[in-house]
Amino acid sequence: MWSEDKIPMRVYIGLIILAYIFSIAIRYIWVHWASGYPQFFWNGELMINTNDGYYWAEGARDILTGHHQPNDLSPIDYPISILTAFLAKILPFKFETIILWMPAFFGSLLVVPVMMIAKTLGNDRVGVIAGFIVGIVWSYYNRTMTGYYDTDMLTIVLPTFALWFLILSFKSQKNRYLLLMALTMLLYEWWYPSARPLEMAFGGVALVYTLIFDRKNIFNYKVLIFIALAATPVSIFIKSILAVAIFIYFHFTKEKSDKFVLPILALSILLFLLMGGIDMILNPIKGYIFREAISDGATDSLKLHYFAIAKTVREAGSIPFEIFADRISGAIPLFIISTAGYILYAIKERLMWLALPMVGLGFIAMQGGLRFTVYAVPICALGFAYIAVWFGDKLAEYISDEKKAKIVKIATPLIALTISLYPNIEHIVTYKVPTVFKKDEVAVLDKLKSIASREDYVLTWWDYGYPIRYYSDVKTLIDGGKHTGMVNFPVSFALTHNQVASANMARLDVEYTEKAFKEKNVSQTEDYLADMMKDYGYKDPALFLAELDNPNFKLPKKSRDVYYYLPYRMLNIFPTVNLFSNLDLTTGKENKNPFFLASRYVVRGKRVYLSRNLFIDQEDATVHFGNNKYPVNTFVISYVGKDGKVHSQISKGDSRGNLYIIYLKSYGQILIMEKPFFDSAYIQMFALGRYDKNLFEPVIITPYAMVYKLKK
Ligand code: MN
Repeated sequence: MWSEDKIPMRVYIGLIILAYIFSIAIRYIWVHWASGYPQFFWNGELMINTNDGYYWAEGARDILTGHHQPNDLSPIDYPISILTAFLAKILPFKFETIILWMPAFFGSLLVVPVMMIAKTLGNDRVGVIAGFIVGIVWSYYNRTMTGYYDTDMLTIVLPTFALWFLILSFKSQKNRYLLLMALTMLLYEWWYPSARPLEMAFGGVALVYTLIFDRKNIFNYKVLIFIALAATPVSIFIKSILAVAIFIYFHFTKEKSDKFVLPILALSILLFLLMGGIDMILNPIKGYIFREAISDGATDSLKLHYFAIAKTVREAGSIPFEIFADRISGAIPLFIISTAGYILYAIKERLMWLALPMVGLGFIAMQGGLRFTVYAVPICALGFAYIAVWFGDKLAEYISDEKKAKIVKIATPLIALTISLYPNIEHIVTYKVPTVFKKDEVAVLDKLKSIASREDYVLTWWDYGYPIRYYSDVKTLIDGGKHTGMVNFPVSFALTHNQVASANMARLDVEYTEKAFKEKNVSQTEDYLADMMKDYGYKDPALFLAELDNPNFKLPKKSRDVYYYLPYRMLNIFPTVNLFSNLDLTTGKENKNPFFLASRYVVRGKRVYLSRNLFIDQEDATVHFGNNKYPVNTFVISYVGKDGKVHSQISKGDSRGNLYIIYLKSYGQILIMEKPFFDSAYIQMFALGRYDKNLFEPVIITPYAMVYKLKK
């Protein structure tokens, strides 16, 4: 029945290369689309489309230049930064080109272990079909597309290689694959520190597999030794040495060592448990689901209650079945067929049960969030390919003509492949992700780089932290990895309060960030506000914060410059920024949020419509919302002039009014807000260009972003 499945290895390698090239070529679709937008380019190359990528890029840049600043949070020790720096050194391409294409070239490597798993099991046609599917499946594509420069490029590739070596070990009963498996698992753990739960799950299924199917075979217990070793929470370096040592021992003693296999297994399990494996068994998926710790501040007796970041994070939480199925296989029917295919595959080829942990982890996505779906992708692709080949062979049984039967056996899987590719390619064509920043924004940061020194701080919202550090080579207070409610509070406060309080808080936050690093060596989750209150002798946070309104507040000694980065794009998230400091820190209770709206508009006569039931009546200076009518307190027209200054005209309306309207001419946008927002440093300095000359100095003024220097 499987005669068509003996594809010669040389041909098969050719097919692997072809599938690999296919996977990369598909990733050119985005490049082609994005190349139509000059705003997506910087330094003659397309920019990346994932924020976190700028973090790794900063690390790689600093490795290449050979230095970085204490407490600048540059990830110079991370594998992805090291790999990037290495490639930038040996390859004749621009740094920007390397980080743009790395995800495509590394992510597409997934076709190799997937095709080799099927080859190892003797299902060559299955491997070929799966190989052409796996690289471009919806969720896998999203996380490894060109420009998606992040650790995802190898987080699925490495465990799939480990799974291949695991299957190969059982199948071939050769020690050398055990070593490869263990080393791949260690590489995986080095690349992705939350790798261990999956390794343990591999150990679990390998154990059950051995006990059910093949418990008398002493070799299988060797497999367990190597997995237990890989999953033990000790240094990767020590584990690598141990793995090599045990391999050498087994390799050279051959059968003589067989009687020691079980004692060694017992020892390694004991070691695993002693080193903290018990906790990991009790909470095997904790590391995956709760990657970001949520914590209240706690310094000695003082406990402040901050805004929990989880409230604004979208990715966590359960997802509907349709999205789940689309992400794993491209469409609901494909997902069902793939899952059925996997079950069929595992029934016919019991070694496929070893893939269960990856399927399981993918299914966690239904509860744990979208990013887990990718784990199921390789196995579901194999399942789909298997059932397609199986179905073709079943059909062929009804055809007496041998030649025609052979055609059916090859054509059926190919038709299935086409059907499976269709929704996934359709997704890829329509998935138009912009680059993180636009050229005009980067130009501001690039200019800032020549103005600010590497020890200076830039105060802005965490969304812009990584790109700013990469393009301007400065320090930031919060970023894509450092943004708990605790560290966000002072920044949120500085952006949403009056300029005096803002300036005081900015200086305090910067000096206390450095102080905490120098004195306590902490740089991620320190309660800087609590530290300040302690030094200034305050117990009540509200009293301390009120004191910041004092222009003569005694600040710590200035150690460096602080810049405010105020981008246009922050308008859309400004109410969210406000949430982090608009609460009672003693109780954690949130205050009422002031009204804020940023919108485009349509003019009809004297009425300016922002939406169907919200308009501004210019006749009597009121805002109509539904059936209600509110007086406007102040009306402002502002624009960024060719002279590099913000020009604003302010006209007073009804002094009893609560609403403030700003017409941003440069952007064709209207803002409606209540007083607290109108008075905030961000709105005053960015939208109105009104800065306190004692406190701030404009450095770069463009419509896309403005940079002010703190004078205090
Ligand atoms: Mn630095």
